[in-house]
Amino acid sequence: MAYYKKRKHAQGPTKNEEKVQRAKYAQNQARNTLGSKFPVVKHMSLRLAFSDQRQNLIEEKVLSYGPNDPVAFSVACPGRCGKGTFNLSAKITELVNGQRAASEEVSKCAEPLYMGTQEVCGYELKYRVELEYAAEEADSQPDPQAP
Ligand SMILES: [Zn+2]
Repeated sequence: MAYYKKRKHAQGPTKNEEKVQRAKYAQNQARNTLGSKFPVVKHMSLRLAFSDQRQNLIEEKVLSYGPNDPVAFSVACPGRCGKGTFNLSAKITELVNGQRAASEEVSKCAEPLYMGTQEVCGYELKYRVELEYAAEEADSQPDPQAP
């Protein structure tokens, strides 16, 4: 009668632990996509324009997101503060909840320039959010392949 050695002493994580870790990682990735955060949003574009204290344009960029794209709702300030962030999360959530198509906002960086100073960074972010919602398309464009 043959003897099959069925058990091995595992070094490091077991198969099951690895599986759990992979699932957690996938979950984290999924949680950061536009679609997982806002399932009703089909497309979002952000136009960001940073200007300094004297309203000189420093940097401008346009970002475009589909449902599977990872999305971050906080933007680092390019100003001299070196650590300011503009958080767009609350505003975008508000727009999505209200099913708004577009909005323009202005936000100012209030980080102090130096430790213990009253002087703040003062960099300004003007941003325009444009949103497309999945439901609209389903109504206006019926699937031509449908029976
Ligand atoms: Zn700043």
